[in-house]
Amino acid sequence: MKIGLFGGSFDPVHCGHLLVAQAALEELGLDGIVFIPAAQSPFKAGCMPTAPTVRLRLLRLALAGRPEFQVEPLELERGGISYTIDTVDHLTRLYPGAELLWLIGADHVATLPLWREAARLAALVEFVVIPRPGFDKVEPPNGFRFHWLHGWPLGVSSSLIRERAALGQSLNQMVPEAVAAAILSEKLYQGSATR
Ligand code: ATP
Repeated sequence: MKIGLFGGSFDPVHCGHLLVAQAALEELGLDGIVFIPAAQSPFKAGCMPTAPTVRLRLLRLALAGRPEFQVEPLELERGGISYTIDTVDHLTRLYPGAELLWLIGADHVATLPLWREAARLAALVEFVVIPRPGFDKVEPPNGFRFHWLHGWPLGVSSSLIRERAALGQSLNQMVPEAVAAAILSEKLYQGSATR
């Protein structure tokens, strides 16, 4: 079993995230991808994310009908700051014998040496890096192992989605239809443009 682990705030999930997952699935022949929404990212300490229930619901809407894409709420249940090493330790026990690959966008490469227990993390998992507009293809930091994918680089971010939702602008083609409909009907991200 070869499983992709995809952590993030997913606040909200958008088509860039889905293309990351699709690229990893196809290019590495993964058996599945587990989306792991963070309770609180260590790199976004000053920002209060949207309620876990909302982010989880939108994620489930986005992944509906794709059994190879699963959602694992363990970081939300654990609460506090979400450290990848804790999650990897947990999932290593949950999927004994599986090859675990941690997916990141190219913007996260430079931060890797700052992740908690970086050396142990680098020894435990290989990283899969998906290009993101504005971020060059660089060598892995010391000790880290990478697969660089081709993907389909897309300049969409959750910040952009929050900004557009707050301004009442269309989210069409940037998030799945069901996610756009939920954001609109539940009036989500109305006052969060600057987060
Ligand atoms: P924000 O704009 O709030 O910082 P974000 O769009 O970067 O959010 P996150 O949920 O923080 O989304 O990202 C989770 C993971 O997905 C990270 O590894 C990030 O690099 C990656 N990612 C997000 N959007 C893209 C994209 N458009 N292309 C490639 N990787 C992406």
